[in-house]
Amino acid sequence: MNPFEQDDRRFKMTIRSHELFRKGELQKRAKHAQTILRACDLCPRNCGINRQEGEHGICATGRYARVASYGAHFGEEQPLAGTHGSGTIFFAACSLRCCFCQNYELSHFPGNFSQTQPEQLAAIMLELQQKRCHNINLVSPSHVVPQILDALVIAFERGLKIPIIYNSSGYEAEDTLALLDGVIDIYMPDFKFWQPESSKKYCDAEDYPNIAKGALLTMYNQVGDLVVDDHGIATRGLLVRHLVMPGGGLETKNILEFIANSISPQTYVNIMDQYRPCGTCDQHVELRKPLGNDEYRAAILFAKQTGLERLDQMDIKTLLVKLGIL
Ligand code: SF4
Repeated sequence: MNPFEQDDRRFKMTIRSHELFRKGELQKRAKHAQTILRACDLCPRNCGINRQEGEHGICATGRYARVASYGAHFGEEQPLAGTHGSGTIFFAACSLRCCFCQNYELSHFPGNFSQTQPEQLAAIMLELQQKRCHNINLVSPSHVVPQILDALVIAFERGLKIPIIYNSSGYEAEDTLALLDGVIDIYMPDFKFWQPESSKKYCDAEDYPNIAKGALLTMYNQVGDLVVDDHGIATRGLLVRHLVMPGGGLETKNILEFIANSISPQTYVNIMDQYRPCGTCDQHVELRKPLGNDEYRAAILFAKQTGLERLDQMDIKTLLVKLGIL
């Protein structure tokens, strides 16, 4: 099979979003989403301010999205990065704003980045497709869903065909997820905290655990387990990321049990070990040190005990290297 035949097959997977576009439903949702910005409750923060008039809520983002950077990214999970890379678009700002964010400048100081018009955002998507990226990977998209829908209308019109990934913190409003039903091919949420005390302390979002549980179930109901093509490239489904935190073993256990028992043991899960002190985490003594190898090892072993069958291979390899087995 030549590469162009492969591309044709891959493109068929976005058929549902294109159907929405052809029927005018995507355009309707994009228009409706703009009205939400007038009293913004796009995310669970429910700021209620008028972003159309330039007012700012917790995400500090007004009418237009700000793109911090974009490009083919090869560090994502293998089913996303493949051979040509995942077409990542990093949005500045975030509605969750973790104190230990590994991209702290980007998530907490969006004013350092230029505003991006829908036409420009669509052009970025098309450029990434032109570079043969396997997908469009929208990183921290929750506060700019209306801007993304606007851009997708333009990009679909101009031939965007590759799968769309929603790469988020898991802190999502159900109404916003409903706008994305059929538009997003792959959901890639984090599940960060199990205890409300933790999310309160580190993100000032006591409701995060309950919100994230509901969001993951909604995402799963929309797209199901992760599906890959004959080349191992993801075309549709749910991929959950969990960053193991220093001293957070019990939270990790509860989160992995929830995924295995309440979502699906077939959920593709990436258990991440890259925690390092960042941002303002030095305000919390327990966050001032990197994750211990033993803590990560315990998380992987526990994941296997829960019956989760699809753990990200990159991290298993990392673990084996760390344990001196490879
Ligand atoms: S998207 Fe931003 S302004 Fe809107 S509710 Fe969330 S944090 Fe507030």
